[in-house]
Amino acid sequence: SADIAMYYAKERGKNNVQFSSEELNTVSLERFALESSLRSALENQEFKVYYQSKQDMKGHVTGMEALLRWQHPDLGLVSPMEFIPLAEENGLIIPIGRWVLKTACWQNVAWQNQGFPELSIAVNLSVRQFFDKGLLVDINTVLQETGMSPALLELEITESMVMHDVKQAIQILRELKKMGVRIAIDDFGTGYSSLSRLKDFPLDAIKIDGSFIYDMTDCTENKKLTESIIEIGKTLSLTVIAEGVETVEQLNYLRSISCDQFQGFYANEPLPATEFAAMIQASTIMNNPAARSFKV
Ligand code: C2E
Ligand code: MG
Ligand code: MG
Ligand code: MG
Repeated sequence: SADIAMYYAKERGKNNVQFSSEELNTVSLERFALESSLRSALENQEFKVYYQSKQDMKGHVTGMEALLRWQHPDLGLVSPMEFIPLAEENGLIIPIGRWVLKTACWQNVAWQNQGFPELSIAVNLSVRQFFDKGLLVDINTVLQETGMSPALLELEITESMVMHDVKQAIQILRELKKMGVRIAIDDFGTGYSSLSRLKDFPLDAIKIDGSFIYDMTDCTENKKLTESIIEIGKTLSLTVIAEGVETVEQLNYLRSISCDQFQGFYANEPLPATEFAAMIQASTIMNNPAARSFKV
């Protein structure tokens, strides 16, 4: 965006780096600016993990998804859609991903110790992280260091990730399952996974991509496709989670076709840890008067 280009121009002045306008188009200007500040973002503590609830069809919170946020000192909040692909390319995703995993698990254990109900936590993995040699050791270390129960950790991967190298992906997934963690396919329906392959993957859940849900109430095709995805999930004994649920109509429809769980702005937007905790506390008290003594 223009903000990012302007920021880059400022930085360029500071560092006295000279490029002609022909040398760099706007896109590479933005990338250069983001990339240089991404390198120091971790040590400058500019990352935050937000949490979005995952709920069953009765509206009970069953878990949460950890979603990374980057609070850039000059640009404000930068979307993960912008900086994750960059971190993928330059390898920074490895230390950043490790940090997200550790922060999310640590937070979940802290809430558990404060008397929260048992909630699962989902963490997104990127392709480079998934195939990284250090992944299994990293996850093991985080589980040990935080005392997190593996059964409460759900790793979200995508179809295109596993299709990248099916044989190796199956092996990694088997190792992860041995550790006791759960595996979900994120953005389901947008990738290229072959249905005959899907059954070979040791999975626990699929998440229907939000693009099927957003305009579902006006779109017969999307309704039918969503129904088919739910059927595939049931056939493979997987938990089916709908993403991007924004309205009660969408939720009612998903309930009528036996979707298991949902996430979306209808329940809550991704929230900073303290706000998420307050929301859980409020909903727990509402649903269960005996939980009034519950402390955050
Ligand atoms: P995702 O894993 O599919 O996460 C769902 C995205 O949909 C999130 O965007 C979330 O804020 C958004 N969302 C949730 N409910 C609604 C809704 O009702 N309506 C709409 N319009 N959007 C909704 P976000 O947080 O911007 O993240 C975008 C993507 O960035 C994520 O998609 C995920 O692929 C990636 N990402 C986020 N955090 C991490 C991370 O820690 N590691 C990695 N590798 N990727 C991450
Ligand atoms: Mg996800
Ligand atoms: Mg994702
Ligand atoms: Mg998704």
